[in-house]
Amino acid sequence: MTVTTGTLYIVSAPSGAGKTSLVKALLDSEPRTRVSVSHTTRAMRPGEQDGVNYHFVDHASFTAMIERGEFLEHAQVFDNFYGTSQKWVEQTLAEGFDLILEIDWQGAQQVRKLMPQAKSIFILPPTQEALRQRLTQRGQDSAEIIERRMRDAVAEMSHYVEYDYLVINDDFGHALEDLRAVFRANQLLVNAQSQRHAGLLGELLA
Ligand code: 5GP
Repeated sequence: MTVTTGTLYIVSAPSGAGKTSLVKALLDSEPRTRVSVSHTTRAMRPGEQDGVNYHFVDHASFTAMIERGEFLEHAQVFDNFYGTSQKWVEQTLAEGFDLILEIDWQGAQQVRKLMPQAKSIFILPPTQEALRQRLTQRGQDSAEIIERRMRDAVAEMSHYVEYDYLVINDDFGHALEDLRAVFRANQLLVNAQSQRHAGLLGELLA
C-alpha cells in the first residue's frame, strides 16, 4: 500500500443504531473527510441513488471485481455482498483526505490486517428495546423478520471489543460530539500535525 497522508476510519454498528445519520452529520463539520461508496449486490431501497448510497451491481460484476482484485475488503453481510474499492481508498487518502468506511465487522477485520493504522469506531444503541423499536419502525415487516434482524444485530454487536472507540448513541447530539472528539484527537496527533504545520515547525526550530 502507498504511503498516505489522510487517516482511515472504520465505522461499524448494527443496523438501527443510527450510524448513517451520525456519519452524515459528522461530514458537515469535517470538510477534509470523505465517505466511501461501497459496491453491493443488494436491491436499491426507495430513496437510494446509484453512485450515491452505493454502487449497485449484479452478482456477475461483483464476482468479476473480486477476481480482478479490485476490493480492499469484501464480505457477505446477511444475504448480500458488499465491497470497498481499493483504488478509490488509496487515491482519496493520497490526496490527503480523511476517509470513513461504513462497513461490517468482517470488513473491519480485513482492513485492520492490511492497514493497521486505521482507527475503528463501533456505535451501539442505548438499549435492546431502542434497537428493536428502530428496526420495527422501518416498515411493516413480520415479527419473524424483526427477530432475525435482532439476532443479526446482536451478532454484529458482539464484535465491539475489536474496535478502538465505542460510541453509545443514546442522544444524537452527544454521540455526534463523541465522534467529533475522536476525529479531533486524531487530527492533533504529532504525525498529522507535523505534516500540516511543516512550515511553522521549520521556522520555529531554525
Ligand atoms: P445496508 O444494506 O443496510 O445498507 O448495510 C448492511 C450492512 O452492510 C451494514 O452493516 C453495513 O455497514 C455493511 N456494509 C456496507 N457497505 C459495506 C462494505 O463495503 N463492506 C462491508 N464489509 N460491509 C459493508
